[in-house]
Amino acid sequence: MSKKISIIVSVYNEEEVLFEFYRETIKVLLLIDNPYEIIFVNDGSMDGSRGILFKIAKDDENVKVVHFSRNFGHEAAMIAGIDNASGDYLVCMDADLQHPPTLLPEMLRKFESGYDIINMVRTVNKSAGIIKNITSSMFYKVINRLSDIHLVSNASDFFGISKRVADVLRNNYREKTRFLRGYVQNVGFNTVNIEYEARKRYAGESKYSIKKLFRFSMNTIMTFSNLPLKLGIYAGSMAAFLAIIMMIYTIVSFIRVGTPSGYATTICLICFMFSVLFFIVGIIGEYLGLILSEIKDRPIYIVEEKINFEDK
Ligand code: UDP
Ligand code: MG
Repeated sequence: MSKKISIIVSVYNEEEVLFEFYRETIKVLLLIDNPYEIIFVNDGSMDGSRGILFKIAKDDENVKVVHFSRNFGHEAAMIAGIDNASGDYLVCMDADLQHPPTLLPEMLRKFESGYDIINMVRTVNKSAGIIKNITSSMFYKVINRLSDIHLVSNASDFFGISKRVADVLRNNYREKTRFLRGYVQNVGFNTVNIEYEARKRYAGESKYSIKKLFRFSMNTIMTFSNLPLKLGIYAGSMAAFLAIIMMIYTIVSFIRVGTPSGYATTICLICFMFSVLFFIVGIIGEYLGLILSEIKDRPIYIVEEKINFEDK
């Protein structure tokens, strides 16, 4: 029996692109012999996406829909898709057609030749501006330097995983603050990279603001590295070194000139030391927040309704 393919698509306010995405994807899937399912995860869209998905799922029983009770974010949507997929080969993609469905046959060939993980690496991102491209490459440099894991730069949320990798993600990677791409690249298994050119968004706007991306980068660094926490030790040693120099200077000038003047030095030192101190306290606070959200153990996502799944 040929293996089943599960396409996982996260959807947040994508009414303008959904039909077109379905049309393009189904065209490719029908050319492949394998059985398939398309799982749309509606991440609390507030536009007409829900109605459109309902229509698509009514006409095609291979289309399944998971509706979230509210917006939980792209990461949550992808893991929900993985949780609900029944295929042997899983492919995550965006709904905006930036990830070309025409690459699915090539991914399938890689799966069949024994690869468990297929990273789709973008060469150019046509929609992203210069700033987004630069910050994105900076992000990968920082994270690779700070943590012991290695992330392929420009790996996207477009990737394929086999059932056994999906099982690892389903059972062992249930953190609340998530970076799925990072997990996928660090569970091991036979991995292959395929380069692709990210197309322009078919319609609509990017749902990731700069603020969201910054939050996302911060979270990723924290979940993959404890190095920022050690900043306090480095800063402390530096401060101790500075303090010794200042003490020697003060004593020497006290002996030679009498009372040391030094108002400006004092003020500068205090300001500098306090800024370092608060910065480090802030970092510790961020990690505390991370621990708190894990301890609270709230769900990664809440499902409101499922369509076309047998086990309702
Ligand atoms: N998305 C989502 N939840 C969100 C934000 C985005 O499910 O809170 C989906 C969105 O519908 C799209 C994918 O994640 O299918 C990628 O988002 P987008 O294209 O806006 O990001 P970009 O490609 O600009 O990085
Ligand atoms: Mg996009």
